[in-house]
Amino acid sequence: SIPLSFFGGLGGASKCGVLIKGSNYLEALANTQIIVFDKTGTLTKGSFAVSKIHAKDISNEQLLEIAAYAESYSTHPISQSIKHAYNKEINNSRIQNVQEIAGHGVSAVIDDKTVLAGNAKLMNREHIQYEPCTEAGTVIYVAIDNKFVGYILIEDEIKDDAPFAIKELKANGIKQTVMLTGDNDAVGKKVAKKLGLDKVYTQLLPADKVAHVEELLQSLHQTNPKGKLAFVGDGINDAPVLARADVGIAMGGLGSDAAIEAADVVLMTDEPSKIATAKKIARKTLAIAY
Ligand code: ADP
Ligand code: MG
Repeated sequence: SIPLSFFGGLGGASKCGVLIKGSNYLEALANTQIIVFDKTGTLTKGSFAVSKIHAKDISNEQLLEIAAYAESYSTHPISQSIKHAYNKEINNSRIQNVQEIAGHGVSAVIDDKTVLAGNAKLMNREHIQYEPCTEAGTVIYVAIDNKFVGYILIEDEIKDDAPFAIKELKANGIKQTVMLTGDNDAVGKKVAKKLGLDKVYTQLLPADKVAHVEELLQSLHQTNPKGKLAFVGDGINDAPVLARADVGIAMGGLGSDAAIEAADVVLMTDEPSKIATAKKIARKTLAIAY
């Protein structure tokens, strides 16, 4: 049977805006020693500002327009940011055959031309010769009919409460903090350094994130069979990794329906510090129960 104090714990957490889908997850949270974060929208705000537009053979305005059109159907934070920078109405009749390529970017047919917008991985995959951007930031390379036409550099900010969240988690039984991201190495390392994370892995596809979590789980269970691992994410691509973790935590506000569905814990406000709050409540509840 479930100790009575568990109901208090679940209720206390929900009052703080943390929805825990069962007392078993409260217990797992109390025993969590490794916490793995997604980057975009989880530790960073996910609302990128365009910091540079570098066009080749077309104008900067044309580059931004073609990128906004290619991104028009995506719900990814990158796409929202590009559409926001473009800030004009989009004529949907010009767009056909839109495809989102997880961990890579998007492809669409615009005015009968094939447009690709995404990272270096996408350009390499399609064998497109491009000018690499050397500045730090998230880069969206754009190609029209397999010809590179420039890149857009965008920058995200660390969430205000993220440094506090990391400190609080470390003070409350977390032994290792890890970040997994599909973004480039420069951005990933910069964020990890600023937050003092123990480990960072970059340029990952959704399947790579699952593989890293499995590896971390294995090494944790070798040293501590009772230790648990939590993963925190927001995106639709995070569902497999949310399901694989002992405790899957989703950002409820920014999160996709698939992520919220797959999660064991949902944060109603997208503040990572809420995880530390939940961890504290979980530890206290367990201490009272046993
Ligand atoms: P994260 O791991 O930071 O949450 P994702 O796995 O969602 O990132 O995406 C990884 C990378 O794939 C992004 O940094 C970006 O380079 C590229 N990407 C994903 N979706 C898009 C998109 N809609 N437009 C352009 N690039 C994208
Ligand atoms: Mg993400």
